[in-house]
Amino acid sequence: MRKLKFPDLNVKECIETCVLNLQDISKKQKYLETIPYFLEQEKVYIDYAQNGQLNNIPSNVSIQNNITNLDMKKLYKSKFAHKGQPGYELYNQIKSIPANGICPLCGHRQVSTIDHYLPQSLYTSYILTPVNMIPACADCNKNKLDEASNSEDENFIHPYFDDIENIPWLDASLIEQEPPCLVYRVSTDLNISNTLKNRIKRQFIALKLSELYSIMAAEVISGLKYHLNKIAMTEGTDGVRRYLNEHYESYKEYHVNSWQTVAYKTLANNDWFCNKKSY
Ligand SMILES: [Zn+2]
Repeated sequence: MRKLKFPDLNVKECIETCVLNLQDISKKQKYLETIPYFLEQEKVYIDYAQNGQLNNIPSNVSIQNNITNLDMKKLYKSKFAHKGQPGYELYNQIKSIPANGICPLCGHRQVSTIDHYLPQSLYTSYILTPVNMIPACADCNKNKLDEASNSEDENFIHPYFDDIENIPWLDASLIEQEPPCLVYRVSTDLNISNTLKNRIKRQFIALKLSELYSIMAAEVISGLKYHLNKIAMTEGTDGVRRYLNEHYESYKEYHVNSWQTVAYKTLANNDWFCNKKSY
């Protein structure tokens, strides 16, 4: 759930680019004539998104000039998300917003697609609106179902508008067994509104982040065995704790809520783990 910088594009530029090589002249004219409507809708979107209230935008609304949901989906698919077509450069421009190509929804996997925050099938007005297009990995795109949100509490965290990067919302506990296992959850001890808490929780569950992070952490714990055994032998418990803390501090500097930050913090704070004679 990482913050992204705002796309340097608006819906007018996207539509004008997509219709550039459209053969059907009357259709092309229809899209161009509807641009003021799309711009107006984009403004409404930004106003609601800034306050975490995108649930207020009604779904299944007919749009001006008899442009259908299928029309817009086709325009997006064939002229925007299609290699060699006029909009493809803009599609890639949006996909390349996240640092290191990391999906902002899970903060782990590689961006491979664009997810529509308000789903294409329900919100025709926002199919070519850049602020509604979120660069994402395929799994997050699939796990985030195409549903309308019914309340503020159900709104996913919006990477262009919501900044929760400095709220330490991710937490984990260590199951003291062999092999040790980290169980991730949304922290219960957060000084934020219940609505924001519910939004984070909903996204955490829908995107199956607990499972993903636990698996990744298990790999790290296994990979550390050799090194931790060496430190335990030469420097004992304090050495192990120091090593884990250094990694924690380093990852925390980069992302407070990465699974790595929370893994190292939880391990460093766990006496059973740090006191182990053998890893
Ligand atoms: Zn993802």
